[in-house]
Amino acid sequence: NQQILLDNRPSGEAVAGNFKLVSSDTPALADGQVLVRHHFMSLDPYMRGRMNDAKSYAQPQALGQVMGGGTAGEVVESKNPKFAAGDKVVGMGGWQEYSVVDANQPGALRKVDTTHVPLSHYLGAVGMPGVTAWYGLVKIIEPKAGQTVVVSAATGAVGSAFGALAKARGCRAVGIAGGPDKCKYAVDELGFDVCIDYKEHKDAASLSKALKQACPDGIDGYFENVGGMILDAVLSRMNAFGRIALCGMIAGYDGQPLPMSYPQLILTNRLKIQGFIVSEHMEVWPEALKELGAMVGAGKLKPRETIAQGLAAAPEAFLGLLKGKNFGKQLVKLV
Ligand code: NDP
Repeated sequence: NQQILLDNRPSGEAVAGNFKLVSSDTPALADGQVLVRHHFMSLDPYMRGRMNDAKSYAQPQALGQVMGGGTAGEVVESKNPKFAAGDKVVGMGGWQEYSVVDANQPGALRKVDTTHVPLSHYLGAVGMPGVTAWYGLVKIIEPKAGQTVVVSAATGAVGSAFGALAKARGCRAVGIAGGPDKCKYAVDELGFDVCIDYKEHKDAASLSKALKQACPDGIDGYFENVGGMILDAVLSRMNAFGRIALCGMIAGYDGQPLPMSYPQLILTNRLKIQGFIVSEHMEVWPEALKELGAMVGAGKLKPRETIAQGLAAAPEAFLGLLKGKNFGKQLVKLV
């Protein structure tokens, strides 16, 4: 069983040398346990935060241990009556080829149906990132039909689901993404009404002008994934009583400061800004996953994936994700 461990912590930017590839034997199964062969590993921005030894909402990743993370695969051996060899399952198997899971732990392993939804999508649109978009839109932004909502990192795992969910609720959906290809894809394939390429804008004032054009009625809801210049520009276009779901601030994950130029706009526009962590809202997952699964099954959401091949490719793919090199959900394919 090949595995990738966190070997040492980054100082500043994360590098490939923070990780170490090792091999070990898989232990024999005890009662209640299941052996899973991972087909796909999920790479997610939150993993960068766990590499630091700092207080955060998630425990730091322990040094010398297998990097944690979501996995989708197949049961190869089971000593648990609820699972049988051949079952397709999603869990938190981490950066390794196989995992031994104590399947009696609530939520440790979930059987999934791959008849209409490909296995890999359970790590993206029909998994944690999709539910994240759903929570921010439905529970924090609470849009009415006809309102304008904006999302940054619009073509990513979370952003693409956000666009589809917003369109399904009759909103005007405006994306912000990096580069002409991503923006074209956001409009042509994801159904965004407009997508702005922030890389064409040297500062928040210039991006704010583009937002004014894209959002003639102002912005009622904003789903923040990035921070920095993009947040500054959006704040300048928010309508009174607008809502901001603060989901991520990837522009600061390597420790960069993200100053806010005009926080007084929060006051003058009576904005609600709420941060949230999707894993603290397990009560909404069934409802959200049902809607997302139906959308993907019906072809109303066609999530794109960037797939790195083989476990050894995971560190570079992960570092690429932190620099926006992914186009859609970043995965590693193992089998
Ligand atoms: P994505 O698939 O969206 O990938 C990250 C994207 O961020 C990149 O492709 C890039 O897209 C964009 N980006 C913008 N600015 C930068 C920058 N300065 N450096 C690097 N990337 C940048 O990832 P996810 O959909 O998985 O996650 C999106 C956000 O949601 C992240 O901030 C993540 O931390 C957060 N999140 C929060 C959760 C929660 O519970 N609060 C749960 C899950 C995710 P582009 O090229 O368009 O700029």
